[in-house]
Amino acid sequence: AWLAVAGPRTVLLAAPRSFCAGVERAIEIVERSLAHGPVFVRKQIVHNTHVVEDLGGRGATFVDELDEVPDGATVVFSAHGVSPAVRAEADSRGLTVVDATCPLVARVHASARRAAARGDTVVLIGHPGHEEVEGTLGEAPGSVLVSTVDDVDRLSVPDPATVTFLAQTTLAVDETADVVARLRSRFPDARGAAEEDICYATTNRQDALRSVASDADLVLVVGSANSSNSRRLAEQAVRQGTRAELVDDVSHVRPEWLAGARTIGLTAGASAPPGLVDELVRALGGLGPVTVTERRTVAETVRFTLPPLPEASP
Ligand code: SF4
Repeated sequence: AWLAVAGPRTVLLAAPRSFCAGVERAIEIVERSLAHGPVFVRKQIVHNTHVVEDLGGRGATFVDELDEVPDGATVVFSAHGVSPAVRAEADSRGLTVVDATCPLVARVHASARRAAARGDTVVLIGHPGHEEVEGTLGEAPGSVLVSTVDDVDRLSVPDPATVTFLAQTTLAVDETADVVARLRSRFPDARGAAEEDICYATTNRQDALRSVASDADLVLVVGSANSSNSRRLAEQAVRQGTRAELVDDVSHVRPEWLAGARTIGLTAGASAPPGLVDELVRALGGLGPVTVTERRTVAETVRFTLPPLPEASP
């Protein structure tokens, strides 16, 4: 089947793509903690199957909830953050916590706490069931979640004059603008600039993809199915009118997708390792001549410092 899709073709590489500063920091936290002894990680450290498998192979134990962590053990909280209830449980269990919550998620949590402290109802724009959303909602009792303009129309709050808008960090910038516009028209006195909660890495990856998607016959997004920012990239390409597929790695690329695709736009979500993109480009090269062109929309220089890590065991 692969012979039918032989090149030549052009690959337009969107840049920035792949790992963001929050994901690099979270992975480094697990790696460094492993050097000190056994490590449990609550939830996937970042939403990528390859990252989780790799760290699992190096000794990290991934669990869904804290009751799977033995008393006194070291537990890492994932980049998506946790609700105060999870922190309290870890405290009461005497667990050593290493917090890999991305500082940009932590910033939204802080906004949620401030809003709750002044008595506002937090209206969070986000996707139901996502771990980040659960953590942020937990910071502000009585907060509500909206995903769409329809959700905004159905929303009722105790006092429309005391509302604060916040957003999940990995939303689609264009779709969020529509939801925020509807919120502002319903709640003109509300506080919070929800669009500003969408993080630099999400925004930059969407901007970069926008510049390649319109010139591509097919967009391939490297990322896992449960990665919010990766899914938003694929959806954005489709909104621009270009076919798009989200793949965990090259082995998930179906030959029939490539038929007639002379120009392929390629990007990767913030949790997807850069090496997976290189592998995909090499595989396309195996099908015939490939011209690779990178289109960079911005240089990323964001780096985060590490939190305190457990002491080395004697
Ligand atoms: Fe942090 Fe943004 Fe990366 Fe999420 S996508 S870990 S919020 S930098």
